[in-house]
Amino acid sequence: MLIITKINKFILDILFPIKCISCGKENEWLCESCQARIKIRDEHVCGICERVITPDGRTCLACKKIANKKSQGGAIDGFIVASSYLQFPIASAVHLFKYRFIRDLHIPLGNLLVRVLQKTEIPLPDIIVSVPLHHRRLRWRGFNQASLLAKHLAMNLLTHNIIPFDEDLLIRNRHTSPQMRISDYKFRKLNIADAFSILPNSDIKNKTILLVDDIATTGSTIFECAKVLKAAGAKEVFAIVVARQETGA
Ligand SMILES: [Zn+2]
Ligand SMILES: [Zn+2]
Repeated sequence: MLIITKINKFILDILFPIKCISCGKENEWLCESCQARIKIRDEHVCGICERVITPDGRTCLACKKIANKKSQGGAIDGFIVASSYLQFPIASAVHLFKYRFIRDLHIPLGNLLVRVLQKTEIPLPDIIVSVPLHHRRLRWRGFNQASLLAKHLAMNLLTHNIIPFDEDLLIRNRHTSPQMRISDYKFRKLNIADAFSILPNSDIKNKTILLVDDIATTGSTIFECAKVLKAAGAKEVFAIVVARQETGA
């Protein structure tokens, strides 16, 4: 490490000491024993209606039918929510990760995704893809939180192999207002419609894709991405998020 980097790190460590947000143990944002105590979901529901319990959060038959009718190509095949916003310290970890720019938190949160996925029976993805950020937001945050999580998954889901990971496959065409700020469900859907496309000349025909995001609210971002992936020929699209935020809608 360069001496200047070392000094910078030293000063930062004094100003903002790294402590486990759960137990206060030094030098880690979320220590291993606190990570192990986070309860993961062992029962999943259909990601669209959120009412029917299905294996690995697969889309229930009724929702599939409606999606097909709307010619959304059956859109999402399964939606896995790793934990709950109410499960301490998920909400604080996500908040620090996204809004306090603590990028190292992608490791414990990514580990959580690995833990959940290893318990499911969804097919091994051919590609892991992250929900993209608009470049304005990317510049503001300095990193795409979904992309860090997706990469961690790609590197750690299998013990001896790496799963191909593509953070550029999906493109966000325009800046959309952050979903959290829009309380009306209808407007959330309008806000996100046609916001994504696929990188030209990408071949995803017959591929099984795992889509990664940090948090979902109504799920419209995930559904919209799945729709675009399916339209480009993907065989199956599954999604995983750390938690789903209650909308109260
Ligand atoms: Zn701890
Ligand atoms: Zn359903």
